[in-house]
Amino acid sequence: MIKNIIKRKKPRVVYSSDYIYGLSSTGDYAAFDIMKYKKIHDELVANHLLKTQKILRPDMCSYDDLKLVHTDEYLEKIKNPQYVNEVLYLDTNDLIYNSILEYYRSVTGGTLLATAYALKWNVPVFNLGGGFHHAHPDKAEGFCLLNDVAIAIEKFRYLHRAKKFMIIDLDYHQGNGNLLYFKEDRDIFTFSMHAETWVEIERMQNKDILLPLNCDDEIYLSILEKELSDSCLNFQPDAIFYIAGSDPYEKDTLADMKLSREGLLKRNLYVYNKIIERKIPIIIVAGGGYGQDSWEIYYDFIAHCLKK
Ligand SMILES: [Zn+2]
Repeated sequence: MIKNIIKRKKPRVVYSSDYIYGLSSTGDYAAFDIMKYKKIHDELVANHLLKTQKILRPDMCSYDDLKLVHTDEYLEKIKNPQYVNEVLYLDTNDLIYNSILEYYRSVTGGTLLATAYALKWNVPVFNLGGGFHHAHPDKAEGFCLLNDVAIAIEKFRYLHRAKKFMIIDLDYHQGNGNLLYFKEDRDIFTFSMHAETWVEIERMQNKDILLPLNCDDEIYLSILEKELSDSCLNFQPDAIFYIAGSDPYEKDTLADMKLSREGLLKRNLYVYNKIIERKIPIIIVAGGGYGQDSWEIYYDFIAHCLKK
């Protein structure tokens, strides 16, 4: 008897030791756990879910690739650490470890590597960072200096590896940078479920869903299932970016939603399975998430997918 078994491809993980946010725990960034991605990496390795030799290691994103989205003038400005400090509202004394620009370029390089790998092999790829969805071509916003997902889309459509892309953004905050950047673009579908609307634009290939206050698991998941429907995926993208923000977590120190750890795992697996079943390449980036417990959410998601 022939068994009809669908063999799932094991996801890959992109990470580099540069993924340590070069900030201290003071000032406006106090909520950011600078070791978040290293913690996730270390825990995956310690639990034998991730072999270090299997990790995909990115290079820093080149200036040629950054120019696919960002203006020359802006890229010149951000070479100055003082300017970067100002646009990210940092104190000069906050700088530790690597420079902030190198951090953003490394993680953006990670999203490019994840996209290349996912498109080539149709294997789900997690970047242990990324999802800087507020960044604009000529300015930083919401702690986002470079727009990694927009750069990845521009690079791979330029290389004719794929034409249509979808961004599913479940961060607590609206993906306003991507919405504005792709507002005239019929080949990009933007989907964002969030607690605050930063910008309102009417466009065909977009779903912007404003969530009710104090959203809990039940409300959130019922809205997600209704909105991220099969008809939505009939857009038939060649690849999907999932910005799996952890900031709807009840323990998040900046946001105010009430989703549990279990609820967020259900959310993440709902999106993941829906895309995998359709055999669409998926690139998953971390998005936001604040406080010392935030790492648990992205860890759970990756650990669950690696265990299968
Ligand atoms: Zn956020």
